[in-house]
Amino acid sequence: MYIVMIASECAPVSKVGGLADVVDGLSCELLRKGHNVEIILPYYDCMNVSLVDNIQSNSVEVSVPFKGKQIACSVHTGIVRGNTCYFVKSHSDEKYFERGNFYGAADDDERFALFSVAAVEFLGKAGKQPDVIHCHDWQTALIPVLLRYKYKNSFLSKTKLCYTIHNIKHQGKVSHKLLDMAGLSLSAFPELDAMADASAPGYMNLMKGGIVYSDYVTTVSPKYATETRTSNLGEGLESVLSAHASKYEGILNGIEYDIWSPEKDHNIPVNYSVDNIEDKYKNKDELRKKLSLRNVFKPILAVVGRLDAQKGVHLIRHSLLYSLNKGMQFVLLGSSPDKEIDEYFHHLKHYLRRNSDCSLSLSYDEELSHLIYAGSDMILIPSLYEPCGLTQLIAMRYGTVPIVRNTGGLSDTVFDIELSQKPQTQRNGFAFEEFSYEAIESVLTRAQFVWNEKPYTFREIMTNAMKSDYSWTLSADRYLGIYSKMLGR
Ligand code: ADP
Repeated sequence: MYIVMIASECAPVSKVGGLADVVDGLSCELLRKGHNVEIILPYYDCMNVSLVDNIQSNSVEVSVPFKGKQIACSVHTGIVRGNTCYFVKSHSDEKYFERGNFYGAADDDERFALFSVAAVEFLGKAGKQPDVIHCHDWQTALIPVLLRYKYKNSFLSKTKLCYTIHNIKHQGKVSHKLLDMAGLSLSAFPELDAMADASAPGYMNLMKGGIVYSDYVTTVSPKYATETRTSNLGEGLESVLSAHASKYEGILNGIEYDIWSPEKDHNIPVNYSVDNIEDKYKNKDELRKKLSLRNVFKPILAVVGRLDAQKGVHLIRHSLLYSLNKGMQFVLLGSSPDKEIDEYFHHLKHYLRRNSDCSLSLSYDEELSHLIYAGSDMILIPSLYEPCGLTQLIAMRYGTVPIVRNTGGLSDTVFDIELSQKPQTQRNGFAFEEFSYEAIESVLTRAQFVWNEKPYTFREIMTNAMKSDYSWTLSADRYLGIYSKMLGR
């Protein structure tokens, strides 16, 4: 099958969060299964070009109709972890992808609309006719609309469209002028109303367009698929998803075992596996050395992730102070684009600077993240909502026990050692329900008690976690099933 992924991120070259890991991981697995996969991405000035093999200096030149003019774009080919990638550079005065950041510009909607049109124009110019185009999140949600209307009778008329929602909170609510810019004026797109946003009068909703006009829609866990269709976690799109329920399902994300495996990870000092778990503790020693934590008989509780309201920042802050008080060590690796949250954690770091039981690294640091996953005893993920979550999957692979709130993908992947109905061998962590200080204190107390007083039970949870299979193998098969269904094969 010939599949083209079009996305705003792909690990490791342009990564902000889980979207990048998924585009990379799913593509690699489809490639391993013998399919032809290509990825179209923006050519950001801030992407890590050194991780692209053989990036070509010569390029395919594409003239992109946008904003009533022709915008010159060049598309450069390179290989990322075996996958052929096409990087779209624009040469207009707006310097769309030369902003020093992936996201956060006032004209993000315009930047990704240009990218969406350019990606489709590039496919035409290069004479490509994929069986499936797979788009991701609001940034590329315009592509299904473009294909249904503007390019209806074109070279892509037989191509099927799969659209994946990674986080429904960010929908791309835009002025209808954006559709005009992309060549979707009322005459070209008579169903303009189908994209109207229900909560913001006068605005269009790109994600809604992606849902309505794709052949199939997925999200990243079964529980989140239900939550987004039936509760306010749908962020206003519940009724749209319900109306399209027959083409909507949740497929759990996997993680790339080539990257995340304690047996062969080059970023950790001592490799280990479920058969020699003791060696994990050599990584704990190294983590302590690296972060100047004292070497005492205490569990290390870690947090790795974006510091965002979604991730439960208040509960993270409360857990930090609570766990230090109760005799645990605490390691945090996170960053926040939100100035207030960022300043808050910098203050906290300063306040705790002489505490040798905790370390706050307020940056994005891929290498350190590997050592934290390997060297910690537990990882905390108290999210308000969580479409899938990758940090619990990665942590489990390294025998680091997850403590999670029962929501979305966390609930589909982490099963409480005491409270779950799953067979004993599948219970791989601790979980709590309420988004409250009381609930988090209670679960931390439980986890610390098991670590201190029931080491054999704790070891059993670690082993169960390491044996849980969250590779891409099964999930990629589910996507292939959807692609085949769309193609009527
Ligand atoms: P989200 O996509 O909501 O940010 P996920 O749990 O799905 O969260 O994915 C987060 C990914 O980003 C994981 O691979 C995690 O290791 C990585 N990550 C998040 N924050 C950092 C950081 N500060 N440094 C290094 N890696 C990070």
